[in-house]
Amino acid sequence: MARTCVFCGDSPLTNEHVLPQWLKSAFEPSMLPRVRFVKVTDTGARDHIAPLLNDQVKVVCANCNSGWMNDLEEGVRAFLPALIRGGLAILDPEEQHALTAWSLKTMLMYQHTHRRADQVAIPPEDFKAFYEERTANRLMTARIAFMLYPPDDSIPLVDTLYQGHGETDDSERAWIGTLKIGCLVVQILRLGPLDDDRRVLPFPNTASTRTISPSTRRIGWPLRHPIPYEHMRRLAHPEILNWQTTTL
Ligand SMILES: [Zn+2]
Repeated sequence: MARTCVFCGDSPLTNEHVLPQWLKSAFEPSMLPRVRFVKVTDTGARDHIAPLLNDQVKVVCANCNSGWMNDLEEGVRAFLPALIRGGLAILDPEEQHALTAWSLKTMLMYQHTHRRADQVAIPPEDFKAFYEERTANRLMTARIAFMLYPPDDSIPLVDTLYQGHGETDDSERAWIGTLKIGCLVVQILRLGPLDDDRRVLPFPNTASTRTISPSTRRIGWPLRHPIPYEHMRRLAHPEILNWQTTTL
């Protein structure tokens, strides 16, 4: 049977860049050869190493790729390079919303860079929900953090972790995705299913993190307190899977 689009079910499939070529402007030319590093846990660690910005997956149709997915790219194009470089930026709620949607799309595409048997962290219903809603929903909360980026190759330029996915104490399915590109860390937590009148409690703001979904106020970038790279894995600790929910 022909493979169909993970979002709309259409075919044929087209190649989609996991990280868009236009992001080239965010990186120094010397950074471009750097490889990225992706790790998925649960069924075992799996590293995926690929040239920066060249990695493609073939899981979406032409209409999705050049239509609404491209719109998501356009929504972050004006400010994402500054976030990645650690430059000055002010994110208003609309931009936080755009960043959340783009990051979620990127995490969904990243999952397909793994072998099929390892594509387990994000369930198919999340692809369907994203296609319908085009953004994070009430099962999700998102936050950003600022990570200093050393001028050498000691840490991966792009680092995507799905650390902790599985069942919570209440048998809800949960995953947490942590995407680091340069100085920018975006984290999305998903928990569910939940009753119709409930939503995931938003991440609390901390000295080093700001919640972008749901967004409440403008955020100045870079954040004043960077997170050291050594804390990357602690940031995505599975303990967080037993997150609280609240009524809408
Ligand atoms: Zn499609």
